[in-house]
Amino acid sequence: MRLSRIKLAGFKSFVDPTTLDLPSNLVGIVGPNGCGKSNTIDAVRWVMGESSAKHLRGDSMEDVIFSGSSSRKPVGQASIELVFDNSSGKLGGAYAQYAEIAVKRRVSRDGQSQYFLNGARCRRRDITDIFLGTGLGPRSYAIIEQGMISRLIEARPEDLRIYLEEAAGISKYRERRRETENR
Ligand code: ATP
Ligand code: MG
Repeated sequence: MRLSRIKLAGFKSFVDPTTLDLPSNLVGIVGPNGCGKSNTIDAVRWVMGESSAKHLRGDSMEDVIFSGSSSRKPVGQASIELVFDNSSGKLGGAYAQYAEIAVKRRVSRDGQSQYFLNGARCRRRDITDIFLGTGLGPRSYAIIEQGMISRLIEARPEDLRIYLEEAAGISKYRERRRETENR
């Protein structure tokens, strides 16, 4: 599985529809301060279902929507689509058969979030589900941001265990068991 494309529209500084192609396994994003490098990482975390505005460096979820500039009016909604190359079939469950998996999230100013998998409406849970055990998720270790290494070193044993379970691929079973027990 490999993230091969990020499509952004109305998200933070990316007001116009923008497609970022990630052509290989190693890609560097460079540019001057404030050009939107960290915003692209926020975008990835946001699609995976991040529900804390603080983790996206904002005060409220509305802050992910382009809020206007000296020359542009604010827009009403933000959307991000991540396209994964799944030719290895490693990504999840019913979706393993697809060579490409597109995960999309859209939010409007009234705070309503909609999620899509390969173009079809789905629940947030369907998205977190297919990535469980892959290391990719809103709070997973696939995205190592500033300060995370020291947080890991200082983590309480029960928090560290969550990372270890994800790395070992057993977090999805724990999640399923929790769901069954709650039924
Ligand atoms: P640095 O090198 O300093 O880390 P960066 O490339 O990571 O910079 P980002 O943090 O991605 O920069 O982008 C910051 C820019 O995004 C700022 O100019 C900020 O005004 C803009 N921005 C963030 N949220 C919004 C929003 N909702 N609407 C419009 N612009 C926004
Ligand atoms: Mg930055």
